[in-house]
Amino acid sequence: MTPAYIALGSNLGNPELQLREATTALDSLPESRLLKVSSLYRSLAVGPGRQPDYLNAVALMTTDLPPITLLDALQDIEHQQGRVRDVVWEARTLDLDLLLYGDVQIESLRLTVPHPRMQQRNFVLYPLREISDTNLALPNGTKLDTLLQQCPADGLVKTPGKLYKS
Ligand code: AMP
Repeated sequence: MTPAYIALGSNLGNPELQLREATTALDSLPESRLLKVSSLYRSLAVGPGRQPDYLNAVALMTTDLPPITLLDALQDIEHQQGRVRDVVWEARTLDLDLLLYGDVQIESLRLTVPHPRMQQRNFVLYPLREISDTNLALPNGTKLDTLLQQCPADGLVKTPGKLYKS
């Protein structure tokens, strides 16, 4: 089984419910086990125009699914929860990203791991810190703590809400 970290985000259609349902769906994936889910974090929407705030969380699972199969499963969950994918940066009911898959590095047409934008995103790094081991590092050796030192928590609010065991 390989540890995999998944980022969850939603800013439409009752975000807390979206993330709760997504967590339940992650918990039901074949050949996988959901181990931890972070607290919910409220963050400001990235990109042009006005959008509602996001709710974000990070989940840790272990899985025997190959990375591309896991991506397919994440996209199935997004579609089942009604995301429309036509416009980049649109408001979205549910966004699931594969952040890390063990120490594996992938650069393919459909999948880049570690997720290419995770290093600058406070709404990914802070929840990741909450549920990970203190030594967590990217496959290139960069420590999560180093990334956090370079990534202010501006605009990010940890909420008391819990989705799952942690
Ligand atoms: P987004 O709209 O930000 O969710 O991006 C979705 C697109 O990013 C899809 O076409 C995926 O194939 C691609 N993608 C590349 N790497 C990843 C990753 N690590 N996790 C999720 N989607 C990815």
